[in-house]
Amino acid sequence: MKNGGIIAIAMSGAQTILKSLHNLDEQDQNLPAIFIGHGSPMNAIENNEFTQSWGKLGKELSRPKAILCISAHWETKGTKVTAMERPKTIHDFGGFPQELFDMQYPAPGSRDFARLTTEQVKKVHIELDDEWGLDHGSWSVLCRMFPLADVPVFQLSLDYTQPPQWHYDLAKELAGLRKKGVLIVGSGNIVHNLRLMRMNNPAFEWAAEFDSKIKNLILEKNHSDIINFNRFGTMAHLSVPSNEHYLPMLYTLALQQKNENVSFFNEQTVLGSVSMRSFTIS
Ligand code: ZN
Repeated sequence: MKNGGIIAIAMSGAQTILKSLHNLDEQDQNLPAIFIGHGSPMNAIENNEFTQSWGKLGKELSRPKAILCISAHWETKGTKVTAMERPKTIHDFGGFPQELFDMQYPAPGSRDFARLTTEQVKKVHIELDDEWGLDHGSWSVLCRMFPLADVPVFQLSLDYTQPPQWHYDLAKELAGLRKKGVLIVGSGNIVHNLRLMRMNNPAFEWAAEFDSKIKNLILEKNHSDIINFNRFGTMAHLSVPSNEHYLPMLYTLALQQKNENVSFFNEQTVLGSVSMRSFTIS
């Protein structure tokens, strides 16, 4: 061992650093797991504080071999994973400018990583899907994080028949993908009530309170209370009137290992009732 140390010292500083980074990359280091509060589809084409954060994050990350996105906007009966080599860009919204409908995010898919996902998850049978593509929960964020669209992207659906605990347990089985170079991104919003949103107004009290409650529970690693959020009464019911935007956050949280910490960004609430709170786990 001592000789090894002497050899390392004899190497140039740059070589030593490169060598250690390379080894970590191949053997030990998990890619971070990320949750993005995606908000309006307009973030795909607007330049604002949120999209700037997404761009910065994309530059800071080691290049993944593939990206697995769990988006609020793909709900199915049973669980599916996209397996096509050329996923189409889905414009699953209405009432936005033509520029947004013209947007394409031509990232390749990955049948190999889709298959690997079905093998990793024992809890449930995951079906390979050749119909879906990339919905705006994925591409409106990824087009800012990885604007070259040169990293393969595939999506996992949300089984709308299942409760939050079930999703959390399923997500735990995705942990092995991180070691294989897959960046896992949950994309939704912790507070998401479009019926009550109001332009140019601060967060409703209940929205701020619920967002802050969840932040603190994340810091305390109290995942059980986050899964059982309904116990928080009115503020929870108003913040999560339906849970499809909340569940992707559970997928990211479930990937947290004992030695990993959370760092938050985009901690604002927009339109009174949409929390943009996002975080990385690493
Ligand atoms: Zn959404």
